[in-house]
Amino acid sequence: MRAYSGFSLLRGALAGHRYWPRAWRNAEPQQHYDVVIIGAGGHGLATAYYLAKYHGVKRVAVLEKGHLGSGNSGRNTQVCRSNYFYPESGAFYEHSLQLYENLASEININVMFSQRGILVLCNSPHEMDLCRRWANAIDMNGIDSEMLTREDIRKYLPHINLDCRFPIHGGFIQKRAGISRHDAVVWGYARAASAAGVDIVQQCAVTGINTSDSRVTSLETTRGRISAGCIALCVAGHSGHLAAMAGLRLPITSVALQAMVTEPVKPMLDVGLMSAHIHVYVSQSDRGELVIGGGADLYNSYAQRGGLPVQQESMQALLELLPILSRLRMMRQWAGICDMAPDVSPIVGKTSIENLYVSTGWGTGGYKAIPAGGDTLAHTMVHDEPHPLLRPFQLERFSTGRLIDEGAASGVAH
Ligand SMILES: Cc1cc2nc3c(=O)[nH]c(=O)nc-3n(C[C@H](O)[C@H](O)[C@H](O)COP(=O)(O)OP(=O)(O)OC[C@H]3O[C@@H](n4cnc5c(N)ncnc54)[C@H](O)[C@@H]3O)c2cc1C
Repeated sequence: MRAYSGFSLLRGALAGHRYWPRAWRNAEPQQHYDVVIIGAGGHGLATAYYLAKYHGVKRVAVLEKGHLGSGNSGRNTQVCRSNYFYPESGAFYEHSLQLYENLASEININVMFSQRGILVLCNSPHEMDLCRRWANAIDMNGIDSEMLTREDIRKYLPHINLDCRFPIHGGFIQKRAGISRHDAVVWGYARAASAAGVDIVQQCAVTGINTSDSRVTSLETTRGRISAGCIALCVAGHSGHLAAMAGLRLPITSVALQAMVTEPVKPMLDVGLMSAHIHVYVSQSDRGELVIGGGADLYNSYAQRGGLPVQQESMQALLELLPILSRLRMMRQWAGICDMAPDVSPIVGKTSIENLYVSTGWGTGGYKAIPAGGDTLAHTMVHDEPHPLLRPFQLERFSTGRLIDEGAASGVAH
C-alpha cells in the first residue's frame, strides 16, 4: 500500500490525479477462509483489520451484499462521544474515542476528526436535574463533562433561541467529543485491512448459514458456498434476519433512523448540538452543510428511506432552536436500518453456536464505537473469550437480567 502523505498528495496533484492506485483489492471469493466476517460496514471492516494486523490471522474475508459502507456506517451523522451514563458504557466508548484520536495515523487516512464538543441542551428544570446526574456520572467515570448555564450556551451558540417553546435552562458539554468523516473511516479501514491481506468481497450476499453439531460449517452466498473456521455477523439492521439463518434468535428489532443535510453555508455552528427533549441534533460539516438528525421512525422497517412525520418533527425542533435556519433549503434526506436492543446497548461476542460471533445492537449510536468494536471483537474471536471491555455486553445479559439501560439513563443514544 502506498502511504498517503502531504508529499504524495502534491505528487498526485501535479500529475493531474491520474496515477492514484486502487485503495483496496476487490477480491474474488475463495472456497475457504479461517475467518469470514459478514457485512462491510465500519464494524466488519475494523474487526478484519485488527484480526489481520494485530493478531496475525491470515485468511480473513469480509463479505458484503452491496458496496462497502452502503449500510449505516456511510449514512450516519458522525457524532463521536464517550459521555455515557453507566461505567461499562463509559469505559467502552472512551476507549473508542481515544482510538479515534489517533485513527488518522493508525490507518493512514485523514478521518477529519474534529473535537469541537457536543453540547446537550436541557429544556426544563427537571431535565437540568437529570443532566446534573448524568454529567456527574460521566465525571465519576473519569470522562470530561461540564455543566453550562444559559449564558454559557449563548456564548457557544449566538443564534440560539433560548426562550423557545420549551425554554432552555442550561446544558452540558463534552469538549473532547466531536465529529469525523464517516466515508473516510470506512474507506480507511477497508484500505488498511486489504493491505494487511484481508479479502473484501463486494456484491456477495449471504443467503444461508449451514450448521452441524452447533457449529457453522459453511455459508451460502450469491457467489457460491464458502466454508470458514469462524464467522462474525456485523450486519446491523439485518442481524435478526441473518442470525435466524443459523437458527439463532436475537433480541433485536430493526428501525429506520433518518438524517438530512441542508445546502452549504458559511461556518456558523462550531459545536455539535443535541436536544433530547424536543428531539433534534445538528452539526455543520466541513463543506458547510448542516447535518440534522432526530428520533427513529416509530415502526419497524427495512426501507432505507424513513417516513415524512419524523422529518417534519426534526425540522420543527431545529427551527425552534435556530430560527435563523428557516430559509435554508434541504438538499438530501436518507435513512439507515438500526439494530435496536431492548436496553439500547450493544451485543458483542460469542453466541450459543460455537464458532459464530455477533456484533450488533449498535442501534443509533455505533459509529463512534467502530474502532473499539473492531479492536475488542478481534480480541474476543482470537481468544474465544470476551475482551474485558465487552464482558458486560454479552448476549447472556438478557437471561441474567444485568441490562445496561442507556436508553433510559442517557436519554439520547446517537
Ligand atoms: C441516520 C443515522 C444517523 C446515525 N448517527 C450516528 C451518530 O451520529 N453517531 C454514532 O455513533 N452512530 C450513529 N448512527 C449509528 C451507526 O451508523 C451504526 O450503529 C453503525 O454504523 C453500525 O455499523 P455496522 O458496521 O454494524 O453496520 P453497517 O454499517 O450497517 O454495515 C452492515 C453491512 O452489512 C451488510 N449486509 C447486510 N446483510 C448482508 C448479507 N446478507 N450479506 C452480506 N452483507 C450484508 C450491509 O449491506 C451493510 O453494508 C447513525 C445511524 C443512522 C442510520
